[in-house]
Amino acid sequence: MSLKPVLAVVGRPNVGKSQLVNRILGRREAVVQDLPGVTRDRVSYDANWNGREFVIVDTGGWASDAEGMAAQIAEQAELAIGAADAVLFVVDATVGTTDEDEAVVRVLRRSKKPVVLAANKVDDQRLEAEASGLWNLGLGEPFAVSALHGRGSGDLLDAVIAALPEAPAETFEETGGPRRIAIVGKPNVGKSSLLNKLTGQQRSVVDNVAGTTVDPVDELVELGGEVYRFIDTAGLRRRVKEASGHEYYASLRTQQAIERAEVCVVVIDAAESISDQDLKILTMAEEAGKAMVVAYNKWDLTDDERRRYLTREIERDVQAFAWAPTVNISALTGRNVDKLKKAIDASLAGWETRVTTGQLNAFLGRIAAAHPHPVRSGKQPRILFGTQAQNCPPTFVLFTSGQMDPQYLRFVERRLREEFGFVGSPVVVQLRARE
Ligand code: GDP
Repeated sequence: MSLKPVLAVVGRPNVGKSQLVNRILGRREAVVQDLPGVTRDRVSYDANWNGREFVIVDTGGWASDAEGMAAQIAEQAELAIGAADAVLFVVDATVGTTDEDEAVVRVLRRSKKPVVLAANKVDDQRLEAEASGLWNLGLGEPFAVSALHGRGSGDLLDAVIAALPEAPAETFEETGGPRRIAIVGKPNVGKSSLLNKLTGQQRSVVDNVAGTTVDPVDELVELGGEVYRFIDTAGLRRRVKEASGHEYYASLRTQQAIERAEVCVVVIDAAESISDQDLKILTMAEEAGKAMVVAYNKWDLTDDERRRYLTREIERDVQAFAWAPTVNISALTGRNVDKLKKAIDASLAGWETRVTTGQLNAFLGRIAAAHPHPVRSGKQPRILFGTQAQNCPPTFVLFTSGQMDPQYLRFVERRLREEFGFVGSPVVVQLRARE
């Protein structure tokens, strides 16, 4: 999984953190207001320097009233520093170091995180000398910058990038070419019939869609003017008949087809009660992180009574997959088979959704304000910030103080869906908890 490295920006109020963040982002996104005594929520943004992507967390100012000082630093900066991969420590060169700066330096030392020291407000050459004075903090070279004018920010960013750990390469394969679909389901639900209906008259679409080599077990099928690759259709065509151990191999084959697919059409026989085997296949597709469409087949065999039962079975057993679009079809008569394409496309779109770090954290901020995590043994676990580590399926990493109840995480996941959609896709929420 490619999780972008995280840079926490810390410093006293009024040293120009937010302005520096804006400068780094190359846009006016961060809040510039930086009032002493006002603790803002941490805000985070996607940043990019020379092609290296990272997440910036602006920790906001901390209250500088004497008594609360130490506690505030621990609360505000220490957590953010702990969750970060590197720290950008901003000092006001025109003021020099204060007791508060010294306190932060102690926190930084303890954290053992790589630190880049920015001496801000060096608007002209005269002030360079002040910046040099900051060597005495023992944090290495102070980078003289002017967030206001942009002076020195290139060198600073080079140093930041050098301090961040290398992000691992993207893991999900981007093979391009036609989208890969697997038709899966237990035996006799109508998978082969559905494939036949989909291919219909158009026997085997062009075998050489630009730049694709087709696995002999796959078929290219055109649906509504677009070509899709159906995975492992040889198995569906060959109709290997029940020998002993057949079920084991069928299951293995299903697993492999799911792995190779981007989206699974899970076929369920609507005329029969939903079985454990159906649920097992739904779970396989979800756990593999694939987009999904559920096709209730043999609709022509259902009467009103059966449909009422089916509705209840779905409510009872398939609720956990309510995010997947469903289509009621008949592979025999062709009813609604043309609607599958739309459902497949919708699921693939949900699966590919990307949410910016800014959007995500605005959302997380609202959640934290309206529905904070319940207090556990006197402590209030909090989501500090989050980032989408990848899509296909959307995968989020939440940096938290303390462990979170699984129940609360499910709630967050539900709200994520309400906010951003992700129709037809599993959503993965992972924690990086600081105790
Ligand atoms: P598979 O094992 O999942 O590939 O299932 P098949 O496609 O071989 O279908 C199993 C049986 O169900 C066959 O006798 C099909 O003719 C029948 N069948 C498939 N789809 C439908 C449907 O929509 N309606 C009806 N009435 N029968 C169907």
